[in-house]
Amino acid sequence: MSEKPETNPHDSTHKQPATGGRPDWVPENAGAAFATWVIEGVKQTGDFAPPSTTPPRRRKLSIDDYVEGIQKQDTTILARAITLVESSAAAHQEQAQQLLARILPDTGKSMRVGITGIPGAGKSTTIESLGTHLCEKGHRVAVLAVDPSSSVHGGSILGDKVRMEKLGRQPGAFIRPSPSGGSLGGVARKSRETILLCEAAGYDVIIVETVGVGQSEVTVRSMVDCFLLLSIAGAGDEVQGIKKGIMELADIMVVNKADGDNKIRAMAARAELERVLHYLRPATEGWTTPALTASAITGEGIDRVWETVLDFFKACRESGILDERRRDQSIAWMHSLIRESLLNDFYQAPTVQALLPQIEHAVANGQKPSLAAAKELLALWKR
Ligand code: GDP
Repeated sequence: MSEKPETNPHDSTHKQPATGGRPDWVPENAGAAFATWVIEGVKQTGDFAPPSTTPPRRRKLSIDDYVEGIQKQDTTILARAITLVESSAAAHQEQAQQLLARILPDTGKSMRVGITGIPGAGKSTTIESLGTHLCEKGHRVAVLAVDPSSSVHGGSILGDKVRMEKLGRQPGAFIRPSPSGGSLGGVARKSRETILLCEAAGYDVIIVETVGVGQSEVTVRSMVDCFLLLSIAGAGDEVQGIKKGIMELADIMVVNKADGDNKIRAMAARAELERVLHYLRPATEGWTTPALTASAITGEGIDRVWETVLDFFKACRESGILDERRRDQSIAWMHSLIRESLLNDFYQAPTVQALLPQIEHAVANGQKPSLAAAKELLALWKR
């Protein structure tokens, strides 16, 4: 460091030392790093270094650091752990699996709630309203999103807006956008693992939001206990726009935006939904899917929505359906991981990669039947 530090002539701490080049005062335990001033022409010794202009590198965390941080509910470490499970680098994935194995005993204690609905139905506004309500009641709420649209359309449906700012300011809330890129299967794996991490970090309500693109509702349904479908009063036929298949997944239906001039229409839509629900197979055995109205903006009906979620959990705990559903989900998840891993192995195998283009070509030209080609490739892979 060649520059003289700025000195203030009125500041007595910057007086020149009287004798021996030693300042008047040094802190106790002053090491070589303690410098009171720099005298030009005198070479600095010790480990004193000028302040760096590059930001410090983030310290690499060990599995123990992650586990400890998560158990202490440190959100910075939780966020880094989620980034680790979302990484596709082989080394990170291995670390992530070790971490998940360590935190597994602390998981499974939350209420896992999925929310879906068409864009504009008011999902983020509802989650913000419900989440804030829950935080004020002392819950710790994690909000995750499953949005594979970023890989399908090149732009995210859920993630672009500035979302849930009010909820984000609640100390008990943790909001994580959808993992990006990759297939729905890949996004789902990351989200499932993120649920576990959040549970280990003490979040007792996990809300997983998704939008109706492709199979994402079915995927989210398979990772939550309770599935909530948000709709709005439509013009004319109230059930228009809600796919019957999606209605069959719902444990609770909410007609949102039941406020102002829209309230009457929302109530009519609710009655119509209830009528249709009557004819559908219930999503959860022993539970009749109710239809409610709410306004995420005024907050009216939001507490009723939460009471209904609690009723659902009470009924499912008592009947044993909740445990059974989670067991089935874990087994189904295992099978989907096996499928994913086999597919990966197959397509990554050098023999398959070498021959795939020419076999595809032969199939495309009608020189080889698809089944024979598939068998040939599988035989090559298994060898
Ligand atoms: P999302 O796409 O499903 O997440 O929908 P948003 O939460 O972003 O809401 C879409 C629009 O509807 C926004 O302009 C909201 O302000 C509005 N909105 C959401 N909930 C309500 C509600 O309960 N009442 C009214 N009047 N507007 C709402």
